[in-house]
Amino acid sequence: MERTVYVNGSYVAETEARISVFDRGFLFADGVYEVTSVLNGKLIDFAGHLRRLRRSLNELALEMPCSDEELLAIHRALVEKNSLVEGLVYLQITRGAADRQFLFPKSTPQTLVLFTQARSLLENAEARRGARVVTVDDLRWGRRDIKTVQLLYASMAKMEAHARGVDDAWFVQDGMVTEGTSNNAYIVTREGTIVTRDLSSDILAGITRAAVLECARELQMKVEERPFTVEEALKAAEAFTTSATGFVCPVVEIDGTVLGSGEPGAVATRLRQAYIEASLNSAI
Ligand code: PMP
Repeated sequence: MERTVYVNGSYVAETEARISVFDRGFLFADGVYEVTSVLNGKLIDFAGHLRRLRRSLNELALEMPCSDEELLAIHRALVEKNSLVEGLVYLQITRGAADRQFLFPKSTPQTLVLFTQARSLLENAEARRGARVVTVDDLRWGRRDIKTVQLLYASMAKMEAHARGVDDAWFVQDGMVTEGTSNNAYIVTREGTIVTRDLSSDILAGITRAAVLECARELQMKVEERPFTVEEALKAAEAFTTSATGFVCPVVEIDGTVLGSGEPGAVATRLRQAYIEASLNSAI
């Protein structure tokens, strides 16, 4: 089925959608994005994604191309036009099309694109069996707090993980885990404390991370936001990741070391349930 997508003010068939070859998103990865998940045809944590989008734009001296209400209306219209029940809405804003040069062009209209992807999120084989990950050097740029479309190294790391027969990669900087290729990373110590890296320009401030840490605190789980080493991760009782489309995904193996019983851990399993329940209740 052909999707309807949104491009600069118009809803068009995906095969009719057009972006300029001079678009700075294409030439320089000069753009930011957000991914909002959809359950039962409703948006999960839209307000959080909007807040982070504003921040990303601001850090790159980009402007919001339309109002919050308009953005919400576009998300909802795409869900409706594509009869999306479960999946995601992808949004991208670039600095627009201009003759190729490094200096930012002045007052060029930005490019705003949104599209949907149908995907099963609640039922997810990786979450059911638990993911296997390998660690790789974090060779990304130093502003990982900005959600830019510059995802080549993350994509290469995921390719490497698959080539090595596992599901995903965790990035490591100075012996400490930063995050996964497209998710935030957590361990649960043998004492039952959840540990995840504190927010800084080293990682993306996951919208799911914030919601899941809130669930953990409500469940009286102990949380420490600090960097952790690979050695600590290999000795952990369990591990997991969070992201908008993966929710909470247990990790059962790191660099060939099996964690605990090799099954998804109790903390990750409980948090996945709690997060999904809270998301379904607050979806708009
Ligand atoms: N870190 C990185 C590098 C990511 O790409 C993502 C997902 N976009 C996340 C963390 C998780 O963020 P969120 O929970 O907002 O999806």
